[in-house]
Amino acid sequence: MIRFVLVETSHPGNIGAAARAMKTMGFSELVLVAPVHFPHPDAVARATGADDVVAGARVFGSLDEALAGCELVLGASARQRSIAWPAHTPRDAATLAAGEFRNRQVAVVFGRERTGLDNSELERCHALVTIPANPDFSSLNIAAAVQVIAYELRVALLEPALDAPEPDARLVTADELDHLYTHFERVMLDTGFLDPERPRHLMRRLRRLFNRAHLDENELNILRGFLSSVERPTGPKHRG
Ligand code: SAH
Repeated sequence: MIRFVLVETSHPGNIGAAARAMKTMGFSELVLVAPVHFPHPDAVARATGADDVVAGARVFGSLDEALAGCELVLGASARQRSIAWPAHTPRDAATLAAGEFRNRQVAVVFGRERTGLDNSELERCHALVTIPANPDFSSLNIAAAVQVIAYELRVALLEPALDAPEPDARLVTADELDHLYTHFERVMLDTGFLDPERPRHLMRRLRRLFNRAHLDENELNILRGFLSSVERPTGPKHRG
């Protein structure tokens, strides 16, 4: 399942055009985060026949809620931000989504028309997807970006999945990872490893590491359990 998430879209016409782009490529799961005007007749007008996708759109107040249950989150972004984040072309991202993650819940997140996605939203993403456009004019209309990425996903999904593994454990969700980061931060502050005066991007680097690792729930439990044991050490279980 591939979920298309649009963050704070200002023009309702773009929501309709994005819905149409999705439907032509066989996708229907549209999620809106705090759209500026929605529902709106312009959204229906620009959907031209994809009004079922617009009508079925789910609306949430926050990106966290919109990403509930997602195991792979890709952020569509025209440019790299301050800290390098793994970035794929739409084709490579589609290969990932249709291969290793074919039987997982995948989300692609699109930013605001004027300002795109902010850093904290990008950190929520396992990787970025960047359409390798004209470097002097790289920002596509959001519905056009949806079209390009949806097209690549469709082409990749039309290929038979020869090596798509059947998941044996659920991958952790964004909010579970957030609890892990809070736990790490608390322990690292307690032990003195993290100096709040000089944090040096430590938390962002940890996020990048764990985003890359695609932890499953068993691995998450090991890390959380270990951190708890650092907070409340009981000493070795077997002595001598
Ligand atoms: N000025 C904004 C661009 C916003 S365009 C910025 O620099 O971020 C609205 C959205 O369309 C973007 O947030 C992104 O999700 C998508 N988009 C536009 N151009 C893109 C590109 N070249 N590659 C990937 N996504 C793109």
